[in-house]
Amino acid sequence: MNKPTQPSAFSRRALIKTLGMGGLASSMGLLAGMPPARAAELENTSRGMAPLKITRVRAIATAPQNNIELIVVKVETNEPGLYGLGCATFRQRAHSVVVAVNKYLDDFCRGKDPDRIEDIWQTAYVNSYWRNGPVLNNALSGLDQALWDIKAKRANMPLYQLLGGKCRFAIDCYAHASGNSTEELVDSAQRHIDNGFRHVRIQLGGYGAAGIAPQPAFKAAGFGQAKDNYMNQYLYMKSVPEIFEAVRKACGDEVELLHDIHERLPPRDAFRLVMALEPYRPFFIEDPFAPEDMGYFKLLRQKTAVPIAMGELFNNPHEWVEPMSQRLFDFIRIHISQIGGITPAMKVARLAEWFNIRTAWHGPGDVSPVGHAANAHIDFAIWNFGIQESVNFNEQTREVFPGAPYVENGFMYVNEAPGLGVDIDEKAAAKYPIREKANNDWTQLRKNDGTPVRP
Ligand code: MG
Repeated sequence: MNKPTQPSAFSRRALIKTLGMGGLASSMGLLAGMPPARAAELENTSRGMAPLKITRVRAIATAPQNNIELIVVKVETNEPGLYGLGCATFRQRAHSVVVAVNKYLDDFCRGKDPDRIEDIWQTAYVNSYWRNGPVLNNALSGLDQALWDIKAKRANMPLYQLLGGKCRFAIDCYAHASGNSTEELVDSAQRHIDNGFRHVRIQLGGYGAAGIAPQPAFKAAGFGQAKDNYMNQYLYMKSVPEIFEAVRKACGDEVELLHDIHERLPPRDAFRLVMALEPYRPFFIEDPFAPEDMGYFKLLRQKTAVPIAMGELFNNPHEWVEPMSQRLFDFIRIHISQIGGITPAMKVARLAEWFNIRTAWHGPGDVSPVGHAANAHIDFAIWNFGIQESVNFNEQTREVFPGAPYVENGFMYVNEAPGLGVDIDEKAAAKYPIREKANNDWTQLRKNDGTPVRP
């Protein structure tokens, strides 16, 4: 599928002419005077390739692991067997993304040249006029990543080669250690270290330590729903320095430790917690504030040298451009499908380089293996890579997505095949349909009196 196809009689003539005259033709301005249709054809034929067109864009939904709804976009072309895949996973509103792809992007893209990634990205971005929302950004990401996949397949190279080539031999990752007691958590952290990880994120009782909280008053009063979680802020804030101390004592000083506040504290309490962690040398503390509280970062930077990671909820460039230029955090943590794919993520990575901010792309279970591969290809190619969140794919996920990235000794590797290196087995994907009514409950966290806590 990556071999050049036979040029038509017209394009053969054009090709000979162009190749024969070399750069002279363009330097003499001959191409500039050419009719637009002919110039477009030459864009491909001058490289010995037939003109390419998008024939269909569609969403594939599958849930091979823990009922997590994964959405992947497949972009098909007029070259038999040549297609691209991109991650459009927005688990919480999966069906909306499927509609955005199948009902809008498909029609928008048909007939366009898949080589023109920037042009398609820019025009699709504003085609809805209103933009920067998670549904349309995820749909756009599916399209964008698939176009990069196609381009790299055409170049017969793994995508990282097109982004600048490898800047490191593998992708250093962090693992998730958890437990509902300090003992369990220390054991979990030690297991990851024994498996080769040099970076471990530690969370006791899940986010906000909800798993160790006692019965709240709102439950006794019958307020909310039975599955709602309770966050006891006092217990959470007390427990975090304790687990840092316990893990440091048990696992030593060398391992890098991370923690995610997940925006669950009032800003002043987040200050107090981050400052209390300073003696334990955290690698980073994630999301001390919600995106709505960006104004607090400046003061936090004056109070502490603890490295801060931020940005998994960012949608709109206004949320990161100014804060990055002011060096308000150390790691940019964007969820790549959430901002529209590889095209904008590379711009974020380049912007970050000038401020010595490192990347820590969001890489949870609700990113498809195609999306994890996109993260990793960027991680390989940029200088200012920081760390990558690691993921474990089960057997079913690997069956649906042959060529998915893998982790060994705490390093992630990609399949070295051309493109993103990940395929999809649609028959296998169909064995794991997504739920008709998707996940609606994970953010339901409340204070003792029942007040909702923002996730
Ligand atoms: Mg997070």
